[in-house]
Order: sequence, then C-alpha cells, then structure tokens
Amino acid sequence: MAASTPPQMLLKSNLKQLRLPAILAEYEKLAREAAETDQDYEQYLLHLTELEVAARQSNALKARIKQAAFPVEKDFDTFDFAAAPFLQKQKILEMARGEWIDERFNCCLIGTAGTGKTHVATALALAACRQGRRVRFFTAASLVNRLEEAQKQYAVEKVLSQLDKTELLVCDELGYLSFSRTGAELLFQVFADRYERGSVLITSNLPFSEWGQIFQGERMTAALLDRLTHRCHISEMNGESYRFKESMKGKRRGRKK
Ligand code: ADP
Ligand code: MG
Repeated sequence: MAASTPPQMLLKSNLKQLRLPAILAEYEKLAREAAETDQDYEQYLLHLTELEVAARQSNALKARIKQAAFPVEKDFDTFDFAAAPFLQKQKILEMARGEWIDERFNCCLIGTAGTGKTHVATALALAACRQGRRVRFFTAASLVNRLEEAQKQYAVEKVLSQLDKTELLVCDELGYLSFSRTGAELLFQVFADRYERGSVLITSNLPFSEWGQIFQGERMTAALLDRLTHRCHISEMNGESYRFKESMKGKRRGRKK
C-alpha cells in the first residue's frame, strides 16, 4: 500500500491480513474507552487480544459441536434429575467433567424407552465438546449404515481412521434395530478398535444379556462385552417414560379446566 495511505486503513488491512476479526471489529471502540479510562497501552492490547482469543474459542466450540452432529442439542440445564431417580446425579455431573474420556473409559446407559438416555448422552457429549474434545454422535443404525456404505466403496479404513480421531464416539439406540451380519461385524470392529484407545458412549434399550440379538452370535457378543465393559461406567435408566409422564400431566391439567 502507498506510503500516503492513512494509518487507519493500513491498520485495518493488517488486521484483516493477520486474520484478527474481533480486534478489527472492536479496536476503535476500545481505544476510545481506553482513553476515557486512562488505560495504558498494555492494558489496551491485553483487552484486544482477550477478545480475539475468546472469539476463537467460541468459534472452535461451535465447529466441534457441528462436527459432533447431535440430532438435538440437549444439555443438563434442561434435565430434571428429580424425574430420573434411577440416576446417580453426582456421578453423572462428575462425568460431565470429562476425566473418564482422558482415561479411555466407556459409558453405557441402559434402560427402557423415554427415560432420558439420549438426553444424558448428548449432554455428556456436549460437555466434552466444551472441554475441547472431539466428539461424534451417531445412532447405531446410522453408524452401521455409514460403515456398510463405506464397505461397498472399499473405504471402511477411511471411515475407521476418521472415527479414530474422535475422543468420544456416541452410539445411540443400540438394540432398536437389528443389523445384517456384515453390519454387526463392522460395528464390532469399530468398538473393538477403540478398546483402551478411545471412549465409547452407548445407549441401549437392551440389557447386556440380550446383546446377542444385536451382534448375532454369542462369541462375538461375549468378546465385545468383555472389552466394552472392562473400564466402563454403567448406568441403568429404567423407569416410566418422561414423555409419557409429561403428557399425562398435561391431560390432568386439561381435565381440571
Ligand atoms: P430415551 O433416549 O431414553 O428414549 P430421551 O432422552 O429421548 O429418552 O427422552 C425423551 C424425551 O424426554 C426427550 O425430549 C428428553 O429431553 C425428555 N426427558 C427425558 N428425561 C428427562 C428428564 N429427567 N428431564 C427433562 N427432560 C427429560
Ligand atoms: Mg433415545
């Protein structure tokens, strides 16, 4: 740029080139504030860099959440632990701190329909995203589907290596649908591959004793359960369906009118 270009324009151009959009957006306003409040240069610069750092962190979090591909973003703030007496609240909130993922522990939430398994799984995974962890959420059916499609194109290894990069793999609704032999084998391979290398969070309506139905064959099921449950937080979530309870409340209220 020409030497006669005003400093303002040069500064803006530099901030763009250096990719500092938060500083670019805020520096003028903050400069006025700094003058008014007698801040020194370092305080001003610190303030600006804090804004940029915060913006980057927030963008990175958004990207991680997008990559996780949650069907619905459900968090603990909307989860009523009082309505889920079968859960150990303290244990779940401790798990939300994410250390189990560092330790490559797994988590299984097992129970009847509508008790909040998907909600809790999503909230735990969301917490992991906030801690900077790479997460991927699948339903068992969509994961098997992805693997089968990949196999048709001789690209299973590619999918496996993508999954390998995630620190937490969520597999929701295992057991609602049964898979083909190949599908079950591919899923087995994913879980077996992650053993002690990456965490898996599984939700299922089936107790472990019935997983033979999913993995067709007692030997494969036993081998899988052996690995999966070796280092694993298991919570049983059996109870009345939350949706059902809520809709009954609504009806009762309706009747009173
Ligand atoms: P599951 O996966 O066990 O079948 P979901 O997690 O899908 O159940 O829960 C069903 C619906 O009820 C969801 O909309 C969920 O947000 C809600 N829900 C379940 N349990 C609770 C709870 N304890 N507090 C608040 N909402 C809940
Ligand atoms: Mg569910």
